Amino acid sequence: PLPAPELGAAVRADDRAHVFHSWSAQSLIDPLPVAGGSGSTFWDYEGNAYLDFSSQLVNLNLGHGHPDLVEAIRHQAGRLATIQPSMASDVRGELARRIAEVAPGDLDRVFFTNGGADANEYAVRMARLVTGRRKVLSAYRSYHGATATAISLTGDPRRWANEPGDGSVAHFFGPYPYRSAFHSSTPEEEADRALAHLEQVIVLEGAETIAAIILETIVGTNGVLVPPPGYLAGVRELCDRYGIVYIADEVMVGFGRVGEWFAVNGFGVVPDLVTFAKGVNSGYVPLGGVIMSPWIAAYFDERPFPGGLTYSGHPLACAAGVATFEVFERDRILEHVRDLGERIVAPRLAAVADAHPSVGEVRGRGLFWAIELVRDQGTHEPLVPFNASGADAAPVAAVAAACKRAGLWPFTHFNRVHVAPPLVIAEEELAHGLDIIDEALDVADAHLG
Ligand code: PLP
Repeated sequence: PLPAPELGAAVRADDRAHVFHSWSAQSLIDPLPVAGGSGSTFWDYEGNAYLDFSSQLVNLNLGHGHPDLVEAIRHQAGRLATIQPSMASDVRGELARRIAEVAPGDLDRVFFTNGGADANEYAVRMARLVTGRRKVLSAYRSYHGATATAISLTGDPRRWANEPGDGSVAHFFGPYPYRSAFHSSTPEEEADRALAHLEQVIVLEGAETIAAIILETIVGTNGVLVPPPGYLAGVRELCDRYGIVYIADEVMVGFGRVGEWFAVNGFGVVPDLVTFAKGVNSGYVPLGGVIMSPWIAAYFDERPFPGGLTYSGHPLACAAGVATFEVFERDRILEHVRDLGERIVAPRLAAVADAHPSVGEVRGRGLFWAIELVRDQGTHEPLVPFNASGADAAPVAAVAAACKRAGLWPFTHFNRVHVAPPLVIAEEELAHGLDIIDEALDVADAHLG
């Protein structure tokens, strides 16, 4: 066998020659060849190990190589690796039942997809069919996936190069107290004004044309924006008043990221549709889905639902999902996340904010946090511009590089560093990772004028 570094070189050579990567100028990237992983850590072929503070793409909730998930997939592969969706499967049914048991309110039926984008596509299709309306509202600061409608729903710049997209999507401003679009000075004011704005958008777009409002319960990639008290309840109320379907996109925050099965559960709000993916089985096998209100499911009792996928509810993916429920319950994962978030992350990041002039705000809950980097704590001017790339993004790229040199794989986006480790992370690993980030932020401080 080749010595490990040569294996890494072979992996890199095949990748560079033949793999076409997401969101990238192909000749400007150098993807890290990854040799393996365990728990919250993964390593390359050169012997460098990284503590994964991004849970890959915020999906690896139970970490690498979880023995229960691996065994569930192995066992299922041996008995029935695949079955088409029009037949009933035990693991698909069990997973749907388990999801219904922890879903908000009376949501109790699941349509399985292959990931998050198609979950959102199908949720929108359902909303359009049940309302007979076409328009969908979504937030500017959002990511909902990269397929045709999902990329149009997406508010962030990834939408732009895919335009003109779905012409029946309109965007609005969600709450963001640190950079309020409404000049609010308190979270309560922010919630009230964001709701007044949303109602204006509904009225001006024509309430009777709007099928759905889709919202990430806590905005993920675009900032870990936790909605201020009352906002989501207000969205629910506006949807009821105007006959609009409320879709909660829980692709990133569902399945424990913030210490709840679904983040909306922590806000006491019941959407009509909830979309999920990622954490449902930590991405061991691609899986997503839409959880439906009885009234929406009932619409299709007598009429066929016009949609489907060959791999809807794939047994290998569902077996890993069932195992995920067992691990969450046995190992008290939700409690672990809440405990670490409150006892370790919140105070440590508050200290980081105090220590670094480049830190404007830290925010989050559970194991989902953002450190927002600024040039000026008074004006909130971001350390790098919105949608920064290349030389403009250098200060944050330098922070990321410092983290990697110290053995931590960070998640960065524009002027933010996110903290989103696997939910199984041990307290000592978490504390060590936060120390690395603290030290790496000296690099950001050094970029201040
Ligand atoms: N919705 C949210 C909130 C997401 O964070 C993502 C992915 O990051 C998606 C949807 C899209 O999911 P997928 O990449 O599985 O299509």
